[in-house]
Amino acid sequence: MNQQLEHKRHTLAHLLAAAVLELYPHAKLTLGPAIDNGFYYDIDFSDGNTPGDEDLKEIQKRMKKLLNKWTEFTHEVVSADKAREKFSGNQFKLELINDIENRGETITLYTCGGFTDLCRGGHSENPKAEIDPDAFKLDKIAGAYWRGDEKNPMLTRIYGIAFDTAEELETYEKQIAEAKERDHRKLGKELDLFTISPLVGAGLPLLKPKGMIIRQQIENYLWSLHKDKGYSRVWTPHITNLSLYETSGHAEKFGDELFRVKGGEEDFALKPMNCPHHMQIFADNQFSYRDMPVRYFEPATVYRYEKSGQLSGLTRVRAITQDDGHLFCRVSQITDEVSTIVGIIREFYKTMGLLNDYWVSLSVRGKDGMYLGGDDVWEKAESSLEEAAKKNDLNYKRVEGEAAFYGPKLDFMFKDAIGREWQLATIQCDFNLPEKFDLKFINENGEKERPVVIHRAISGSLERFMGVMIEHFAGAFPLWLSPEQVRIIPVSDAQNDYASHIYAELKAIGLRVSLDDNKDSMGKKIRNAKKEKLPYFVVIGDKEIQEKSVTLESRDGTSKQMSLSALANHLLTEIETKQI
Ligand SMILES: [Zn+2]
Ligand SMILES: [Zn+2]
Repeated sequence: MNQQLEHKRHTLAHLLAAAVLELYPHAKLTLGPAIDNGFYYDIDFSDGNTPGDEDLKEIQKRMKKLLNKWTEFTHEVVSADKAREKFSGNQFKLELINDIENRGETITLYTCGGFTDLCRGGHSENPKAEIDPDAFKLDKIAGAYWRGDEKNPMLTRIYGIAFDTAEELETYEKQIAEAKERDHRKLGKELDLFTISPLVGAGLPLLKPKGMIIRQQIENYLWSLHKDKGYSRVWTPHITNLSLYETSGHAEKFGDELFRVKGGEEDFALKPMNCPHHMQIFADNQFSYRDMPVRYFEPATVYRYEKSGQLSGLTRVRAITQDDGHLFCRVSQITDEVSTIVGIIREFYKTMGLLNDYWVSLSVRGKDGMYLGGDDVWEKAESSLEEAAKKNDLNYKRVEGEAAFYGPKLDFMFKDAIGREWQLATIQCDFNLPEKFDLKFINENGEKERPVVIHRAISGSLERFMGVMIEHFAGAFPLWLSPEQVRIIPVSDAQNDYASHIYAELKAIGLRVSLDDNKDSMGKKIRNAKKEKLPYFVVIGDKEIQEKSVTLESRDGTSKQMSLSALANHLLTEIETKQI
């Protein structure tokens, strides 16, 4: 957020508070910051009426009226006692004042249009002149605990959205409405893709047959992009002896997020990461420099105890299937290896229609901070990543200080069909795990040498990726991903035989096809096919039987008569080329 916009949003939080106090004199103000899309203010209404969503219009109207008189902020530094006097009776502000006093910081009061609040500053200089009254809007009301602690009183949070211009506000609102329509939880239900059972538990979605087809297609495609590039498939169990994660350091890192499992007297964990397992597979061999790089691939499920409040559909879950892979290589091989992975990422995201708008964060060491590994290795790894990024013509930004403690990385951000950014693929160099597990291979001088590990995930997690794809395509998947690819619709019973013949022919060549020979009217059958967002349906009437042809209709409204062999060719080519 640019600073000017942040100042506007912060100022609007003040304006909201002032309007609320005029309409609800019993209200006690607490805190009200600027946020990503606007602002909010947490207010205690326990001494009288609490506004509801239906009152937002009135409050907003009052804000706009007040804005006309808000032309200048003034501020004064006051003593803690003076501040306490000003906010006497408001236990929340008194608590804040005491905290500021205890930290030894100065206490400032900011006033605009006759309204004074405890504040550190950062406002529009002349709100009336700077803030467009049509570029903000009160959005919703929610509950929030004082200082986010559930032991504290529940306050009322009033949210507002605010932008520089009315057009930007409108664009944002359209995006939100569109996102609601595309919500994968809603579409997942409507299209019968997945379900969440309270008996199985939150954050543990169950894929239904149609959802599984999509996942399987994505997984198969991912493997097809790897199998000719020197990767081998491996498999690792879901539980592991806890000592593995004690050695790797993950037990400490994951802490309470780790699912612990007891087996007899032994302590196990559901694995939160696949990396240590792949290290053990590497360690079981005596590799020489001629064997390097070694590459393992495994779509594997890991388990993490995410807090229940953070769980959501497929995008935030407790069972996460990573399309995981680890490479073991020499420092001199990083550039080539990373280039190959970048090539896979490019191809995968191009196919998904996400490569038009993306950027890559090249996260490197900062000036301070604890980093593992020598300067020479870091410099080589960082320059190798940068070289691979340049070689592949990536739209990348070097971000200082964002590297993991164990190595530099490339993180890929993609924008979906409605402009939301998702961090999906990642490539990370790791100098730490090879050290922890004492991994080595024999170099050309017969000496033991430490390999570098590269972690890479293309889709990130299959669950989250599926959630993103459902929203990106708004449920209208490309043909190759569609659970049902084509439906045969006879106009009436009289065409059933010919329709069954077409159905059998398409099934025989491997298409996911169905036959709708229900008694419903043709109009209803077509409406159903459209509601289910099927890419194609084939309508069969007498004309088609006479001419030994079919009419192929697509969900976007085009229709074309063709022979059966032309139809088969058309569909198979579209699948083969993974056309969007
Ligand atoms: Zn302020
Ligand atoms: Zn890993």
